[in-house]
Amino acid sequence: MGDSPTHRGLVLVVEDEQAIADLVRMYLRRDGFGVQVETNGDRALEAVAALKPVAVVLDIGIAGRNGIEVCQSMRAAGDWTPVLFVTARDDEVDRLLGLEIGADDYITKPFSPRELAARVRTVVRRAMGPRPEGRTLDIGGVRVDVDKRRVWAGGAEVTLTHTEFDLLTHLMRHPGQVLAREQLLSEVWGYAAATGTRTVDVHIAQLRGKLGDDSPIRTIRGVGYSAEAP
Ligand code: CA
Repeated sequence: MGDSPTHRGLVLVVEDEQAIADLVRMYLRRDGFGVQVETNGDRALEAVAALKPVAVVLDIGIAGRNGIEVCQSMRAAGDWTPVLFVTARDDEVDRLLGLEIGADDYITKPFSPRELAARVRTVVRRAMGPRPEGRTLDIGGVRVDVDKRRVWAGGAEVTLTHTEFDLLTHLMRHPGQVLAREQLLSEVWGYAAATGTRTVDVHIAQLRGKLGDDSPIRTIRGVGYSAEAP
């Protein structure tokens, strides 16, 4: 795991052929995603619940629950994280289309990893909604100019690191919503929660120090953080 934040979020890759998993990981990381690989269906479901990835790349032919069953379990639990299926045979495609199991896209082996990464970008972008442009975010005394990446607290400009900026804007884009540490790690850093949620706490503390009394960040004990007017 590198030190620099992977700004597009964490992708869970469920694939039991290691050569393919390695290739997919390399291309997704190059595109700015964090990547967690699981090789069987039961572990995949646990990882979806624990790590809250921004997308799942799901091979159908895996041990334990197969890819289709994994997706069905997610949807039954109300989890609509984008799922991109990887199929090995045409009859699997027929099953996917026939079952209406809530796939967001699929790709057939052998595939170009570049093409797969492009499709992951697309489903993630679609799921996140349109990117606001020319937009400022205001909560209490804090103002963020998203495009220029500038921040003011109480009228004075504050200098933030890239990670602090991404964390603050992510919280301010979901005002009043409680975001779990695991969720912030996945969505802002692109890390799996296994790497330690203390990272989030440390960055929140730094951010609060810089924003001072105007900080809109509230701690929700035992859960995570939210941004709301003081
Ligand atoms: Ca397989």
